Amino acid sequence: MFGSSRRNSQSSIATGSSKLSKKDIKAMQAAKERQSGRPGHLDPGQEHKLKQFRAKIEEAGIFNPERHDDACLCRFLRARKWDVEAALTMFKDAEKWRKEFKVDELYENFDYPEKEKVDEIYPQFYHKQDKDGRPVYIEQLGKLDLRKLYEVTTPERQLQKLVVEYEKFQRERLPVCTAQKGELVETSCTIMDLKNVGLSQFWKVSGYVQEASKIGQYYYPETMGKLYIVHPPWLFNTVWNVIKGYLDPVTVDKIHILSDDKQLLEQIPDVDLPTIVGGKCDCADKGGCMSSDAGPWNTPDGKEIIEKVKQEGGEKREKHEAGATNGK
Ligand SMILES: [Zn+2]
Repeated sequence: MFGSSRRNSQSSIATGSSKLSKKDIKAMQAAKERQSGRPGHLDPGQEHKLKQFRAKIEEAGIFNPERHDDACLCRFLRARKWDVEAALTMFKDAEKWRKEFKVDELYENFDYPEKEKVDEIYPQFYHKQDKDGRPVYIEQLGKLDLRKLYEVTTPERQLQKLVVEYEKFQRERLPVCTAQKGELVETSCTIMDLKNVGLSQFWKVSGYVQEASKIGQYYYPETMGKLYIVHPPWLFNTVWNVIKGYLDPVTVDKIHILSDDKQLLEQIPDVDLPTIVGGKCDCADKGGCMSSDAGPWNTPDGKEIIEKVKQEGGEKREKHEAGATNGK
């Protein structure tokens, strides 16, 4: 009943001479939803809270203009439903963790010679974009045997690698995707492929999965746009009902469990989706999708944008530091 009345009111909306189709309206609503609570799309109350939040961060002496742009601050505020104090606690915790984990040093210097060996056991890679311009991240847990994995690397290094990828995602991939799309892109589209994962194996790796998702949830909030779980093992839905309990309902809404990977094509064009998850891309000329790092960030134009962003970040920091000294 509601559905039909909404449909009627929607189909009567017209702009100029052309009527908008239901699909157009749905796309417009989705775009509006995507941007709401982001810089340029804040209501007056949110604007005010953002100002308050920034002032408190400056007061605490932890403001870093290179990383803490409005989009970043809004992510923390959204993650805490615009409760400024709660967002501040979360933000301080994240900054403390960044220092202890030595995130900036890792981003600059992390060396990962075991990549090839790890890839064989636990493929995880960024590859092109979804229809909304998000970088697509693919993980295949099917071959993951933790005993074998930790013969070639360590749990600590695995988490370091994860964090370095988060940093590259935020500092390099997203700015390029944003420039390309002409609107803020700040989330990823993750495909977790559980092909050949038995339920008992899933429990064995669930500790690592939990630790990894904790880092994402607390220290890189609001960066998951979509998460698709494909090829779920038998009875996975039962497990999912347990896992769901650990997660924020907003997060749960972004997670889709697909029984058929063809459903991925609704979000990712087939030419951009690797064959291993049902698409047509094999990056044959670049050594396969797993190691091609294909995407706009890995093009001459993309690299230029990354350089520019880094330079601007440095300038912002210098200006802020100069301002702080002048103020004293
Ligand atoms: Zn490819």
